[in-house]
Amino acid sequence: MEFDSHYSGPVRVAVLLVNALTSGEERGRRLVVPVDDDLREAATTALRAAGESTEDLPLLTDTEAEAMVQVAEELAPIFAAAAEADHDGAAERANRLLEHYATQPRLVRHLGQDFWHLHFAGTRDGVAGEWAGACAAALAVVLGSAARDRLGICTAPRCDRAYVDTSHNGSRRFCSTACQNRVKTAAFRARNRN
Ligand SMILES: [Zn+2]
Repeated sequence: MEFDSHYSGPVRVAVLLVNALTSGEERGRRLVVPVDDDLREAATTALRAAGESTEDLPLLTDTEAEAMVQVAEELAPIFAAAAEADHDGAAERANRLLEHYATQPRLVRHLGQDFWHLHFAGTRDGVAGEWAGACAAALAVVLGSAARDRLGICTAPRCDRAYVDTSHNGSRRFCSTACQNRVKTAAFRARNRN
């Protein structure tokens, strides 16, 4: 399933930001948030994944990348709440971000495209604020739709990375096939031990 394509980009960015820029565990290993040039690279890579119009996004500055860490920490609890089916908590947090970053809709037309589409962006705190607003709006669209249960946190042991479930039947439980395989292998070993 695909959310409205103009929102699926920022939803993807939100997942990537949370997964790359918040500490915790990833696929059984401790994840430490990168610093300096690695941080700039990681933050920019997440934003470039939004879609065609951001593929050539210039590398974020140190300050912008640091600000993206803050944004990632603000987005993470939305996934955590959604994963617990705490719809009130998820909605409340999304609303708080929309308000904080003064998110506004705006019709834009990208270079070479002959149609306008509706963009949401934060209007304060520079580049990070713009993206924070865009991600919050995209997650709000998901949370306010029948797809509200499609945001989640990996259920594999020693992993707390976020995901958005775009599968046809909404059966996703893991951040990655790596985690899915880890769980399968563990279950297989447990069976064979008996
Ligand atoms: Zn995982």
